[in-house]
Amino acid sequence: MLNAPQRPIVIMAGPCAVESTEQLESVAEAVRACGLHWLRGGTYKPRTSPYSFQGLGDEGLRILSEVGRKFDLQTVTEVVDIAHVGQLDASVDCLQIGTRNMANYELLKEVGKVTARSGKRVLLKRGMAAPSDEWIAASEYLTTAGSTHVMLCERGIRTFETATRFTLDIAAVPVVHKQSVLPVCVDVSHPAGQSDLVPALAKAAVAAGCDALMIEVHPDPLHALSDGPQQLNIAQFTQLIDELRELASALGRTLA
Ligand code: PEP
Ligand code: MN
Repeated sequence: MLNAPQRPIVIMAGPCAVESTEQLESVAEAVRACGLHWLRGGTYKPRTSPYSFQGLGDEGLRILSEVGRKFDLQTVTEVVDIAHVGQLDASVDCLQIGTRNMANYELLKEVGKVTARSGKRVLLKRGMAAPSDEWIAASEYLTTAGSTHVMLCERGIRTFETATRFTLDIAAVPVVHKQSVLPVCVDVSHPAGQSDLVPALAKAAVAAGCDALMIEVHPDPLHALSDGPQQLNIAQFTQLIDELRELASALGRTLA
């Protein structure tokens, strides 16, 4: 295999937002059944509108860490406020910094400082209007503060295109691999905006050599409290994982 990275492709899957124990347990069960290891779920949600569901907050965090423990899955959730950093660091395995906070440098410094002590992972999403060099520079706020396990996450950028929610910059994968030593995740749900586009974007990301994928999954997307249209149901997710395994194997990779 020519230049193919040999590390497994890490799949981080779960609902946009933690809504209840039952909801998260059904996704966790599917993630485990697929032989995967990471569960995502928003607890403090940075929503564009103040009238939209804002997440369950502390209660969501409690559910996420309990379900993660019960199903032996690692957990990732977004940190939106400096005041929450210590609590999230103590509760989950990876702190996500969302697109709206990529350039919140005080938050980056605090997350960098706290995760330097704990050894927890950090997933830094690309700002939706950030060129890749600004995104890489933002990651250096984390690494210079001592954070040792930082991953960059492409999640789509704003362009003139309106057929998708954001334009997935697939070239960001090789670009970041050239310019940074950090691994690259691709969130394929937020750029798609619609669940039927997710499989093609996921396959493109694997073909481009990503190190991880983030995929939103909900047991009942029609009734999801946030991002329903883009979330896969459990059957769709399971089928996509089967297809991605085949593609990964053709490229000399595995999924984890
Ligand atoms: C998310 O992953 O839940 C999220 C809000 O993503 P982004 O910051 O990319 O919009
Ligand atoms: Mn979402």
